[in-house]
Amino acid sequence: MRPYLLLTPGPLTTTDTVKQAMMSDWCTWDEDYNLGIVEVIRKELVEIATSAPDEYTAVLMQGSGSFCVEATLGSVVRPEDKLLVAANGAYGKRMGIISEYYHIDCHVMRFEEIEPVNANKIDTYLNEHQEVTHVSVVHCETTTGVLNPLEEIAAVVKRHGKILIVDAMSSFGGVPIDMAKLGIDFLISSANKCIQGVPGFGFIIARRSLMEKCKGIARSLSLDLYEQWETMEKGHGKWRFTSPTHVVRAFMQALTELKAEGGVEARHARYCENHRVLVEGMRALGYKTLLPDEQQSPVITSFYYPSADFNFKDFYLKLKAKGFVIYPGKISQADTFRIGNIGDVHPTDFMKLIETIKES
Ligand SMILES: *Cc1c(COP(=O)(O)O)cnc(C)c1O
Repeated sequence: MRPYLLLTPGPLTTTDTVKQAMMSDWCTWDEDYNLGIVEVIRKELVEIATSAPDEYTAVLMQGSGSFCVEATLGSVVRPEDKLLVAANGAYGKRMGIISEYYHIDCHVMRFEEIEPVNANKIDTYLNEHQEVTHVSVVHCETTTGVLNPLEEIAAVVKRHGKILIVDAMSSFGGVPIDMAKLGIDFLISSANKCIQGVPGFGFIIARRSLMEKCKGIARSLSLDLYEQWETMEKGHGKWRFTSPTHVVRAFMQALTELKAEGGVEARHARYCENHRVLVEGMRALGYKTLLPDEQQSPVITSFYYPSADFNFKDFYLKLKAKGFVIYPGKISQADTFRIGNIGDVHPTDFMKLIETIKES
């Protein structure tokens, strides 16, 4: 079932048991599916996300992670509101692009791709622009692997009384986050990242009191987050349109496996160990990381090309033939490639990867 390991930040390597969970057909409106699977998932997602589960609610949405970011911005930010987006990579920029499509009044505060978002600059901007109503930020910028200082950013945004939207796509489930403690209002992630499911849908965890106020804001039918939520809430797990039933069933299996591993803390510890083995091994071979260690997430790591004549395509194909698929770089300032640490991959896999790179 595994011709090679995906050392990529989603889709990623899943367990055989997650894949096997897709071997039955489910009826999209039957109770076995709605009550037995969808409602269980919604409840468990909220429990993972916050220490105050009564204040939050979860909604699942068809499509990839970007569909869920778009659904959120387009269903939460009103035409008369103003959004501040802090962007230090492709996913932050994408929130700005979504805002353009929706004609949302939006300011994109740009940071270098190799620096974390600076909470003080957000503070200064909010002091000068009291008309801002919402702030959105990416937690782990998968573009480089930088982990933005979510606690500091959230503290500033909350001090100003603004609504905080977090793209935690590549960190949720793999890096501990407590929405209630930080004051996060909307958090977005998808099935095929740290929960270790397969691609096909994403989810939004929202402060219930705010979600209830979003009726009629959306400018898209399919991506109307409020309508999707209301249908799931009133219909006890019912989706508005055809749901990715097999993918959802696989996701429930992935949640069971997350619990069996020991929850988010244990998964975070494994990812950190994967990352440590990778970086120590690569440094011993002469490779340099793009980011300093203090800014680095355990999710994905960018490495500089080791020399000017380095041929990434050759390197990629050699590793693939030996069972490892890695990721090209995504930034313009430097020649880099990326190696993901998330998925059903373990420190021993990274030891083998280092041996393989040493021999190639
Ligand atoms: C994966 C990811 C997304 C969503 O990307 P899709 O290709 O739409 O799944 C958004 N933000 C971040 C930070 C991501 O890592």
